[in-house]
Amino acid sequence: PGPFLSVRDLSVEFSTEDGVVHAVDGLSFDVEKGTTLGIVGESGSGKSVTNLAILGLHDPAHTKIAGEIWLEDQELLSAGRGTMERLRGDRVAMIFQDPLTSLSPFHTIGRQIGEVYRKHKGASKKEARERAVEMLDRVGIPQPKTRVDHYPHEFSGGMRQRAMIAMALVCDPDLLIADEPTTALDVTVQAQILDLLKDLQQQFGTAIILITHDLGVVANTADNVLVMYAGRAAERGTVREVLREPRHPYTWGLLSSMPRLNAAVDEPLHPVRGTPPSLLTPPPGCPFHPRCDYPQLAGPELCFHQRPDISPESGHGDACYLTLQQKKDIRTAQIEEP
Ligand code: SF4
Ligand code: MG
Repeated sequence: PGPFLSVRDLSVEFSTEDGVVHAVDGLSFDVEKGTTLGIVGESGSGKSVTNLAILGLHDPAHTKIAGEIWLEDQELLSAGRGTMERLRGDRVAMIFQDPLTSLSPFHTIGRQIGEVYRKHKGASKKEARERAVEMLDRVGIPQPKTRVDHYPHEFSGGMRQRAMIAMALVCDPDLLIADEPTTALDVTVQAQILDLLKDLQQQFGTAIILITHDLGVVANTADNVLVMYAGRAAERGTVREVLREPRHPYTWGLLSSMPRLNAAVDEPLHPVRGTPPSLLTPPPGCPFHPRCDYPQLAGPELCFHQRPDISPESGHGDACYLTLQQKKDIRTAQIEEP
């Protein structure tokens, strides 16, 4: 059997008042069952757009999508709206940064969790309520039998995120997409929520896509990493490979802006200069070239004019024209002389 989720040559463009935004451009990746893929990038790198496409939540009137997204033997981009509605919440679920935008203030937490269960599993009101209590208990909310009747505003930020996770997992989905799930929370609560996701994954074998701008979050939570830049894959590999032997100049920059890891591995401070490119007019050649220090070394005729592709085989790979030896030399110099 192939990977559980397989995204192939995905491109997403949407029309805005200012022109066409090339949000995702030729992206491919896989997620295996029971593993976590961390997708890392700055805002505007296409990571959220990619996942809205997986969920079928893009606005079809303004969006042009090409490529394929396979969830086992089901292709999602060609699936009808009805199919996607059945999949969402049942086989594929999501949690977002701010639970307040996804939880209704007008209904109790228990009712909202229960509704998802009733919709997909045809449960009775009573069964749905019992399931909601059970889920609140699983995500570590104390006194779930009382809490089930509370409204979102009666929960703290961390509790609301737990309730969101309970709602996302109520139907035992195969895939959970978590978009910046801890960004709005303080560091301690952040760590608790990430631990909770890991625990639940171990219990239920859920595959997780964790979207974040913070490589530190990925370091502790994910099995594999995909670094995105300007709608494209910059680097991909296991967490160990990408954090220990990062290959793409953009990944080097991301790593150096990770304070927690800096202390651990003496990561030199070489933050990425400049700002991400406009996706209305992406730069020709390597999209990272306006911010990169190495086009002269890699070959300006390549960097400025030809899009580097990540290798199609799986394993550690990156989209950069520098040779492996050149990358090693640069890294050695960076670490020795910060
Ligand atoms: Fe820099 Fe060239 Fe590599 Fe792009 S391909 S990251 S511009 S060296
Ligand atoms: Mg986002």
